[in-house]
Amino acid sequence: MADRPLTLMAVHAHPDDEASSTGGVLAMYSAQGIRTVLVTCTDGGCGDGPGGVKPGEPGHEHDAVVELRRTELEASCQVLGVSHLELLDYPDSGMMGWPTNDAPGSFWSTPVDDAAARLAALFERYQPDVVITYDEVGFYGHPDHIQAHRITMRAAELTGIPKKVYWTTMPRSRIGRFEEILEEIGFTEWEEPDIGEDGEELELGLPDEQITTWVDARDFAEQKFKSLEAHASQSENILFLQMGVERLAEIMGVETFVRVVDTTDAALPEADLFAGLR
Ligand SMILES: [Zn+2]
Repeated sequence: MADRPLTLMAVHAHPDDEASSTGGVLAMYSAQGIRTVLVTCTDGGCGDGPGGVKPGEPGHEHDAVVELRRTELEASCQVLGVSHLELLDYPDSGMMGWPTNDAPGSFWSTPVDDAAARLAALFERYQPDVVITYDEVGFYGHPDHIQAHRITMRAAELTGIPKKVYWTTMPRSRIGRFEEILEEIGFTEWEEPDIGEDGEELELGLPDEQITTWVDARDFAEQKFKSLEAHASQSENILFLQMGVERLAEIMGVETFVRVVDTTDAALPEADLFAGLR
């Protein structure tokens, strides 16, 4: 067929997003000999600093955070067998409503066409057959996730290169068990509700019947766990680490997606992002 390897590209907002939502598929497809490319759009500078210092707190030093998160990202890519890591390196925009949203050069304030052109150049270089990004609300409303979605869809439209495009999602049927697990590990303080761009509270995930693609990557849960471990400086990952590998495999080992671009006509629901391509 082609004189180049089948290629999976995941476009993520921050260092660590590759682990939580796509760690399983990155590890699994890499093990199958598929070339895996991770594009991380921001420097993660609004994350937790060394020692758990939060942004805005004294001692939160931007350059140190960026450096720490870069090192963690590289370690995570090693664990997951990511073939190529590409950094767009925009300044992290922070959560919706933070002043960093509009800081000069922030990912959120960058025109979609500008960032999409840079991503389109990576599409040209790697010719990804399958591209993964977030849905239009960035799963939980983070501006950088929304922007990653926008530039990916624009780059796909501009180049016509990906044969399949997917959005990550979570089946609503899992939410109850997820909350149970949080209780089991003694995590009682659930974060404030996720708020979208228009200030509306977001309902996470999708009804099961709207999910097109269920990829069983439970055999790679150990690698997914280790990639999350590589990002241990970020407090939200500590939650996953407290679950342990078995619970992580149970609740997040089957990774779920919605297929939004397709040139293969592979029957739905499908269990393989490369269905119809090999
Ligand atoms: Zn993120």
